[in-house]
Amino acid sequence: MSAVNELCLAIHQTLEALTAQESPRSVPFTDGLYFFFEKTEKSEHAPDGRIVRVGNHPRSRGGLVRRLRNHYASNKNSSVFRKSIGGALMRRDQRDHPCLAHWEKQDAPKCADCKPTERHVTAMLRSSFSFRVVAIPNMPERNVMEALLIATLSACPTCGPSKEWLGRFARSEIVQRCGLWNSQFVGGPQLDQEELARFTELAEASHSD
Ligand SMILES: [Zn+2]
Ligand SMILES: [Zn+2]
Repeated sequence: MSAVNELCLAIHQTLEALTAQESPRSVPFTDGLYFFFEKTEKSEHAPDGRIVRVGNHPRSRGGLVRRLRNHYASNKNSSVFRKSIGGALMRRDQRDHPCLAHWEKQDAPKCADCKPTERHVTAMLRSSFSFRVVAIPNMPERNVMEALLIATLSACPTCGPSKEWLGRFARSEIVQRCGLWNSQFVGGPQLDQEELARFTELAEASHSD
């Protein structure tokens, strides 16, 4: 097994040992990384669905729960994740969907025809995704971990996107290819063994029960 395969499997196993959160309200701390899992994206490393997004609140203290709430609120302008999912839904249904230009543009207002997409994104987040959280109070450490984890997970040859993955309709070619709803840090330096051990330690300290 290649090194990145071993790292990816270890990350999945470490996180799957944590409780999946039902909603942002149940998150027991305010600084950390979050990991979205997509149920239909099964892989050898993740039989119940692989990690499809790593998220952070890179510049704010105490912003984890707020960031997560923004993903579930019905407002594409509050969340890059919502913009990506909604844009992919539109493009899948209609290649030249008339809403794409304003939906995918940050802060552009929505039109009446965008409303069903907001509802669809929220419904999908509730039904097809779950998330887990790891407490990392130190901001520089959290930001470094975010980058290393995204680079590692997106490089795993075992956890590529399925043929049916919605992200194949994402606007970003990086998302389409790498199988994560992330584009920043893809292709960057990956975790080493020492950093993996530190991540495991942080995750084990994040058990909510
Ligand atoms: Zn519209
Ligand atoms: Zn993997």
